[in-house]
Amino acid sequence: MGLPDLKACFSQLIKANSISAITETGDHSNLEVIELLQSWLTDLGFHCQTQAVKDSRGKYNLLATLLPSNGVTQGGLLLAGHSDTVPIDEGHWHQDPFQLTERDNRWYGLGSCDMKGFFAICIAALQELPLKQLTKPLYIFASADEETTMNGAKAFVEQFANQRHFTPEFAIIGEPTGMAPVYMHKGHLAKGIRITGRSGHSSDPSKGLNAIEIMHDVITQLTKLKQALINQYQQTSFSVPYPTLNLGHIHGGDAANRICGCCELHIDLRPIPGIPLEELEILIRQYLSPIQQNYPGAVDIFNLYPGNEAFGGKLDAPWTQTAARLCQQAPQVVNYATEAPYISLLGCQTLVLGPGSIEQAHQPNEFIDTSVLPQAQSVFKELIYNCCLN
Ligand SMILES: [Zn+2]
Repeated sequence: MGLPDLKACFSQLIKANSISAITETGDHSNLEVIELLQSWLTDLGFHCQTQAVKDSRGKYNLLATLLPSNGVTQGGLLLAGHSDTVPIDEGHWHQDPFQLTERDNRWYGLGSCDMKGFFAICIAALQELPLKQLTKPLYIFASADEETTMNGAKAFVEQFANQRHFTPEFAIIGEPTGMAPVYMHKGHLAKGIRITGRSGHSSDPSKGLNAIEIMHDVITQLTKLKQALINQYQQTSFSVPYPTLNLGHIHGGDAANRICGCCELHIDLRPIPGIPLEELEILIRQYLSPIQQNYPGAVDIFNLYPGNEAFGGKLDAPWTQTAARLCQQAPQVVNYATEAPYISLLGCQTLVLGPGSIEQAHQPNEFIDTSVLPQAQSVFKELIYNCCLN
């Protein structure tokens, strides 16, 4: 079939720039990666559909489907990952980030670990399986814009959530977990609160409206919310077993002899599973509403960047236990966000599980240790075998 070997796959995927950035100048289409995957998966017999992602700058999702010849269209396995990478830390790379470089039993390159390598390993695993004997559907999904908005995964779920012909029973998201199955993570929400008062000479407080004083009330209320979250919600699987609220950054005023006219606070909230971001937003507004009533128009609450939902799978789910057995690693909970909360909306038992360490993700000189590759390839073969070939 002329498919590239594992290293060539890695190398071609890394070469294809698919950087996601919030700013337009740093943002890059992921089409080259999507086209590479499409051509390899088509060669392997998959039916490939690409879909432009709305609210993106030239980004595409890819769904590759391989149906068994026995006519079964229900159930099966979805292997999912993101096709984009974070931007490069200019000046911090010791080699070309878009060139796979082998050194000290490591493959260096942007996306080697997070997470183009996952797709390369899937392609290698698929070549060693008797795909003609498939008994259940097998799907590969590559998303766009995971590193910024997660709009790719969100659009995919919107498109497929209620389609009767697409009902994978199990899903793996191949983010770098060191090949341990991850069944739960917290979400993330970053908000800004801006108080607009009125500046004036400090000698006469009645001439202005002091934004720092209003922010003091905001902080008092947010501190109450922080405690309420601790009191009301618990998930003992996490080392910090409650939702957190952090006051991370504040800036206001310009001189000691002026009434402060503007003050801005940045906060970070990390919900446990079961608290949708929407509910957190409502809580923030509820807690700040007395201040908004006291100072009409002075309090503005805004998103610093798009939030990520928490993901709450089950430790005792059969899929978690099967994956743990095949990986020979205990199921874990982690502190970073993934597309799992969205993919699980498709109704499949979902896990995050992939080669490489999260320590290397989003870092200059990102690499994957080549010693982990054979085990990863064999685990993915077994996972596919388990879901789609027996
Ligand atoms: Zn990732």
